[in-house]
Amino acid sequence: MNKDSNDYTIPMDRFNNTIYLLSRVAEADLPAVGSMKSTLSFLYLHEGPVNLPRERLKASEPFLEPRELVIVRWLQTRTNGNLRSKYGAKALLAARNANYRCVTCGFSDVRALHLDHIDGHTIDTDFACLCANCHNIKSRKMDWSGDKKY
Ligand SMILES: [Zn+2]
Repeated sequence: MNKDSNDYTIPMDRFNNTIYLLSRVAEADLPAVGSMKSTLSFLYLHEGPVNLPRERLKASEPFLEPRELVIVRWLQTRTNGNLRSKYGAKALLAARNANYRCVTCGFSDVRALHLDHIDGHTIDTDFACLCANCHNIKSRKMDWSGDKKY
């Protein structure tokens, strides 16, 4: 397993790869096996769970890479934590289905990914996974309600 803390890109070959997921689960201590299965499914399966209970995240944290910790804390706050009402499962799906890459330019450092409210901050909005640059550029073009400024 690559534990290089400078590498904050998630390799593409992990997505929907149950053999890889099982190999990672096997590295966990026995009491954490179930939690690791939940956490890795939440992170890497496009059809996987859209919720991750906090205690499962906590139990799996010692077995996650730095880049995975960045992603999973970012998303779990939005599916199960205090940002749930503003984001929820749709936000997770936007990031996960984009394989944690900016949908505009492909940028892949997970520390600089954002979840953009496509139609502004409305209740029914969908989300897009954008890098900080593309998000900023879009924000300068559109105001918070989704209307074009320029
Ligand atoms: Zn971008």
